[in-house]
Amino acid sequence: MNSFAFEPTPEAARKRLAAVQPAAYARTRNHLEGAVTRLSPYLTHGLLTLREVVSHLRAQHGLDLGHKLVQELGWRAWWHHAWRHRGEAIFASLHSGPMPEHAYARELPPDVRQARSGVPVVDESVRTLYASGYLHNHARMWLASYLVHVRHVHWRTGADWMHAHLLDGDLASNHLSWQWIAGTGSHQPYLFNADNVARYAPESWHSFGTAVDASYEAIGARAAGARLPSGERAARRAAQRERDGTEAAPATTASLWAAEEADIEEPALSHHRPGPALPAPDAQAFAGREVWLVHPWSLDGPPRDLPAGTLVAGLWLDDHHARWPWSRLRWDFVGARLDALTHAQCRGTAAQWRQALAGAAAVHGWSDPNLGALGQELGLAARPPAFTEPAGPCRSFSQFWRAVAYAD
Ligand SMILES: Cc1cc2nc3c(=O)[nH]c(=O)nc-3n(C[C@H](O)[C@H](O)[C@H](O)COP(=O)(O)OP(=O)(O)OC[C@H]3O[C@@H](n4cnc5c(N)ncnc54)[C@H](O)[C@@H]3O)c2cc1C
Repeated sequence: MNSFAFEPTPEAARKRLAAVQPAAYARTRNHLEGAVTRLSPYLTHGLLTLREVVSHLRAQHGLDLGHKLVQELGWRAWWHHAWRHRGEAIFASLHSGPMPEHAYARELPPDVRQARSGVPVVDESVRTLYASGYLHNHARMWLASYLVHVRHVHWRTGADWMHAHLLDGDLASNHLSWQWIAGTGSHQPYLFNADNVARYAPESWHSFGTAVDASYEAIGARAAGARLPSGERAARRAAQRERDGTEAAPATTASLWAAEEADIEEPALSHHRPGPALPAPDAQAFAGREVWLVHPWSLDGPPRDLPAGTLVAGLWLDDHHARWPWSRLRWDFVGARLDALTHAQCRGTAAQWRQALAGAAAVHGWSDPNLGALGQELGLAARPPAFTEPAGPCRSFSQFWRAVAYAD
């Protein structure tokens, strides 16, 4: 489980979709080496739409709404439903968690950032994230839970950091999942321990003898602010010695063995595409033209029957990136596809884009929540949905899922 190549082409996306094995997925998806789809970077950036994926699963595999894979895709739709209804509120705690807000640190601990916490499940997750821009769902859950409940880091700090390094970084799925783990968007915090890791991850991830080698009761107490009882850790270390005949490392969060390993550098994050500066959108270039806009969340590109003479323009929105930086991996993934699709690319604020496009004959493209109000203001079309939209806001995934049907 080291590095995955995600080629930013529709061919690679379709190949991955064609390789999906729903039955194996349902059986093994919780295992790090299970048959997960790795479709997420393609979904986030619009190389595949949720509707296309769901239609394929229905047509090729006859899946109904009860199938585990369709439900997982439903979680993506659910988080977006919540974002649509709650807006900016999803970026702050929806309700209180196990400890008061001020008790959580707002800085990521350097040992976690540099993959030298000494907790293998944490360090393997961070290394994988940096190297590939992808993490299995279970690894995301473990990493988030460790940071929030063992290290007492505020979920928002962790969510911003993880979002920046993921190729599939999706504000609704990411920030709301972090809230779900933290217990600020769910009834209970998500907790795990070393036994859980051993069940689902390969051996190099096993974390016996570390801070997560404790009972759920002790981890729950830690999540609420207590120290992990050292007597319990000693007992578990003894149990591990018995299990595999080895001496485990001391059970501290920044273990000594990690100090011997070379530090991992966090990949640099950037608020704009690295490389040559891109021009600001220019009204003259668009005046009187039919324009098709391609942006980072619509990388499927324009339709094949685009009228001749239409200008295909790449849109980078400074307002979004000023707030949400990306890793080089992600800029390269998105940038390569925009290069392949567009005649020209510009970067500017929403105000600059509005002004520059005001004189275009017509502006086309797909709207997306990451564009904020700009999509609507430019009259971009909404994507056809995969599932019907419930009439009003739902309070939970189960309520949402009971209310939806396939959208035909
Ligand atoms: C802390 C945390 C952060 C996350 N951040 C993101 C994120 O930024 N972007 C993102 O797309 N997903 C995020 N997820 C959800 C999930 O982990 C990923 O969608 C999934 O791991 C992507 O890998 P896959 O395509 O192989 O998933 P598969 O298991 O193969 O699932 C297929 C598709 O279903 C959807 N899906 C599956 N599980 C979930 C879920 N729990 N929530 C929402 N959609 C889901 C995704 O679109 C995924 O591509 C996060 C989960 C957690 C716990």
